[in-house]
Amino acid sequence: MKNFLSRILIFISCFIIVVSLSSWGFYVHETATQLAVYNLPNPLRKFFFANIDSLTSNAIRPDKRRNTDKTEAAKHFIDIENYGNGAMLTMPHNLQTAVLKYSLDTLKKYGYVPYQILIEYDSLVNAFKHTNSDSIIFYADDLAHYIEDANVPLHTTNNYDGQLTDQKGLHALWESTIPELELSNYNLLSKHKTTYVKNKEEVVWTALRRAHALLPEMFMKEQEVAENFPDSSKYISKMYYGKMTKVYSNEFAKQYATALSSTINDQLNYCSDMVADFWYSAWVDAGKPKLTQLYKCTNKNSKELRKELRSYKKNNLLEDSLIRANKD
Ligand SMILES: [Zn+2]
Repeated sequence: MKNFLSRILIFISCFIIVVSLSSWGFYVHETATQLAVYNLPNPLRKFFFANIDSLTSNAIRPDKRRNTDKTEAAKHFIDIENYGNGAMLTMPHNLQTAVLKYSLDTLKKYGYVPYQILIEYDSLVNAFKHTNSDSIIFYADDLAHYIEDANVPLHTTNNYDGQLTDQKGLHALWESTIPELELSNYNLLSKHKTTYVKNKEEVVWTALRRAHALLPEMFMKEQEVAENFPDSSKYISKMYYGKMTKVYSNEFAKQYATALSSTINDQLNYCSDMVADFWYSAWVDAGKPKLTQLYKCTNKNSKELRKELRSYKKNNLLEDSLIRANKD
């Protein structure tokens, strides 16, 4: 029995490590996906809102798939340095050309999140064309996840956890610890107006370049803040399901967050806007199919949507206990 329990604990701790090193934490994935729903124009917004609980609760499904599917991991990142000097500017924007240039094995080794986004996008267009509610929600969710990952700077570099610069643990610090600590200070209301994306490839690579450009400052600020922290207060040891793990302390996280100013908040909003644009564009590219037959537009539903939109527009979602990640 003891053996069995320890095996379960090892499995769970492996899962936690995989999830924490693979994308925004569940908290931001869920929140970015939730915000994207509010930014949609109707009739899409009503349809997505009718499915918002499913969308948010499955927001990290692609991370979970990594535990059972070995091909999954490479879909979440791109170690751009491994594709050669200047690859961020010169890599082909389309998958077929990239495979010809680098080989599929290379893409699987160094990651290919930009191409995965476009694959998911095509699947979503197809799901809209077939007006299959379950498929639409499934692919919309997965598409959102990969877009959100592509906007995490550490998903665009081979120094993905600060492991090459003696800053190990930076990944979870930036994308999980800080947003979870600081969300009450974030402005979650986006001024962006959801628009049709004509050149999806270009928009994906613009987002990647934007995220990648944040890296030097991220590494530098960590070093600056660390100057005031001896190791004893910079890190704490935390028990994660039976395994002692060294992580950045909350005190360090708060000072580092201040040093980064609004960077993480901006990336959260930027990726959420991008998700809304891509969902909307997929619906347009599918020929704007009618969605009214796919969900029940009840009074209760409409009332809840109005309430959430009011709260969102005042940036009060957290105070009004409407952040779904807090319930999960
Ligand atoms: Zn991920």
